[in-house]
Amino acid sequence: MAIRIYNTMTRRKEDFEPYVEGKVGMYCCGPTVYDYFHIGNARAFVVPDMVRKYLEFRGYDVTYVQNVTDIEDKIINRAKERGVTTDDIVRQYTKAFFEDRAALGVGAPDYQPRATEHVKDIISMVDGIIKKGHAYVSGGDVYFDVSSFAGYGKLSGQNPDDLKAGARVDISEHKDDPLDFVLWKGAKPGEPSWDSPWGPGRPGWHIECSVMSAGYLGGRVDIHLGGSDLVFPHHENEIAQSESFCEGEFVKYWMHNAMVNVEGERMGKSMGNFFTVRDILKKYPGKVVRYYLVASHYRQPISFGLDELDMCARALARLEDSIINAMKAMRLGSEDISKSLEAAKSKVNDIQANNLITAADSAISSFIDFMDDDFNTSGAMSALHELARAINAFIAEGSRGEDSASAAAYAVGKLWRMGNVLGFMDDETLEADAAAALGEGEGLTGPLMELVLKIRADARAKKNWVLSDFIRDGLKELGITVEDTKDGARWKLERK
Ligand SMILES: [Zn+2]
Repeated sequence: MAIRIYNTMTRRKEDFEPYVEGKVGMYCCGPTVYDYFHIGNARAFVVPDMVRKYLEFRGYDVTYVQNVTDIEDKIINRAKERGVTTDDIVRQYTKAFFEDRAALGVGAPDYQPRATEHVKDIISMVDGIIKKGHAYVSGGDVYFDVSSFAGYGKLSGQNPDDLKAGARVDISEHKDDPLDFVLWKGAKPGEPSWDSPWGPGRPGWHIECSVMSAGYLGGRVDIHLGGSDLVFPHHENEIAQSESFCEGEFVKYWMHNAMVNVEGERMGKSMGNFFTVRDILKKYPGKVVRYYLVASHYRQPISFGLDELDMCARALARLEDSIINAMKAMRLGSEDISKSLEAAKSKVNDIQANNLITAADSAISSFIDFMDDDFNTSGAMSALHELARAINAFIAEGSRGEDSASAAAYAVGKLWRMGNVLGFMDDETLEADAAAALGEGEGLTGPLMELVLKIRADARAKKNWVLSDFIRDGLKELGITVEDTKDGARWKLERK
């Protein structure tokens, strides 16, 4: 069965067939770095990361590109307000964006180009669009001539005449038609600017994405993602620019995530009802926020509130508890779980152990069915919880030897893998689960072991073999083996 994606362009689910078999070029509009991002913005970064991780899980070779808008009115205004340079603003908020994104389990894109690094490429595309008769110069600005592009409105499903009636023209603009949009802005005094054939100025916002996707994905994007608030005018304008310049289909599948609401209203900077990710992370771990953002289908609007986050924290704790219980009861370390992911499924004789292995396999196949159906994460979540319940029931029956341990490792491995694809479980959370399983002291074991091994390393450095062997043998009696590797000593809890 093929993966099916709801395509905003055709307004229906379609079988996913990338331009080149096995390879996927993904593009998502990045942030304008003038402020901390809020939980509504975060959804638009988490959804592409979820899509990327799932496609990789399904064996695709994904190239993911996201731009950073580092020159824009909002940045210039923020710098003026604060009496600092635009560089200061950009540096501060790009760093914050990278930190917050990492806390939410969002991996860095393969390419993360910044607008100011590509001004030359932007100028050359704008020039190309003018030469092809789709743009004109006016008062130091360059505008795209919307009437010259027949497909305008096809993504948002609106006709240009209706759009024109609602369009607003700023008095500072020199366009021939209200729908025309700026490709290049002539410089105003005191603003950062670059030389161009049309005089000093800076790139418009829409053109960035057309240039970056052409430069890094060859102008043929398999999946273009973004928030539904970007459909019009931003994505409509991207299509107009790219398709009039490259003369072919720009994007095969358009995916748009729904908004995050607060008390029934869309969260937004302009609405003043936003919660920054940074503030939320002071109260909740990133993995809980990630869980919250993927617990609903991406096309469903979600409401934000502390109750919702609390509910997600409890649901995630149920999954983690079942992992911790299994590790504790079966004396499993994180290495056992990692090994079970790589090892071929082993046949076991014990019937209950076999049943658990079957439950794990069916959880994975139901996970795939849900995710293949337009990334239905909300359905997929049920597969994780069902498997967690099966693990708990199995553990409650008590250990029946080696078979029980390997079946538990297998099931925990599958549960962890699904959580890993959804982005709220990683190597670190697995280590934390292992530490929690090992010590009743809830994570005290790890730091204590680190301390003990430090003392031992110190003894070895001083050639105090009596002390270092005493520590190693003492730990062995406690069921902990120490292995000396070139990266230092490692410890592991032995199965009993
Ligand atoms: Zn864009």
